[in-house]
Amino acid sequence: MEVTRHRRSIAFFIALGVASISVLLVLYIGWILLNWRTGLLLVLGVLLVLMIICGIVLNTVFLVREIRRNEQHDAFINAVTHELKTPVTSIRLYLQTLQTRAVDEQKRKEFYRTMLDDSDRLLSTIEQVLLTGRLGAASRSVHRTKIDLDELVRSCVDRVRKAHNVGGEALSYETCGPATVMGDQEDVRAAVTNLIDNAVKYSGSEVRVTVRTERTDERFITVRVSDQGPGIPREELKRVFRRFYRVPGPLASRIKGTGLGLYIVRTVARRHGGRAWAESEGPGRGSTFALELPVAQ
Ligand code: ADP
Repeated sequence: MEVTRHRRSIAFFIALGVASISVLLVLYIGWILLNWRTGLLLVLGVLLVLMIICGIVLNTVFLVREIRRNEQHDAFINAVTHELKTPVTSIRLYLQTLQTRAVDEQKRKEFYRTMLDDSDRLLSTIEQVLLTGRLGAASRSVHRTKIDLDELVRSCVDRVRKAHNVGGEALSYETCGPATVMGDQEDVRAAVTNLIDNAVKYSGSEVRVTVRTERTDERFITVRVSDQGPGIPREELKRVFRRFYRVPGPLASRIKGTGLGLYIVRTVARRHGGRAWAESEGPGRGSTFALELPVAQ
């Protein structure tokens, strides 16, 4: 609903800009046809019209950018507030119950496990917000060290297996062998974990995720994460990498998130001289996310 409203206002401003330029051009051509003899005025007229056209174009670009920024701001407030508030509310409720009622040992253990899960969720949201802020700082340079990518991906797979309680048959890893990339270990780890975490998270109850490393050529190595989940419509394949963007629809309300994960993946890829992209045959047919990084020479 909100997204449609924003898209409509963006379309309105673009249409307004195009219409104004068209009217100007028509007036201008008419004016030239009527006054083609007065040369000097003609040159001045040309300059004036060009200036006005530039002004309108700049104005339209500025308005569209402002609308996008507002849209991102709203999305940030909604997603992050929800993602911060829900686990805190849940932890509070369990603590209140433990404080006011006698709870048997088994229930107590269950409460502690849920509270730990909630605090993990809280921590991961906070880490994502902080990392997004750090990556957004233009002055920040990449702290490069040698990374053993095979070992890094393996540890990310283990981490997601533990977090989502899935086994090796549901989340498998196929390696192309040892590979070293130069980069910021923590940033690359965050990017790879986000991809694997999304694949499991969006697969729902039937998780069949494969993580692969592939040597694209002698200069690059690609981490590919494929799932058999809900897939992504073609027109959304690029948009999902935008900051705070979540594909609108029932999936977004059922599965919670901040819309920061893929933005982090793309930013980390670019900062390391690589790229990130998504492939999908369409809704219901699974998706593959790829992160391509240059290998250390
Ligand atoms: P979040 O998962 O917190 O919403 P992301 O930036 O990680 O944010 O993902 C952006 C959007 O891309 C998600 O909201 C979801 O709609 C879509 N998406 C990401 N990964 C997958 C996937 N494996 N399968 C289907 N949709 C996905």
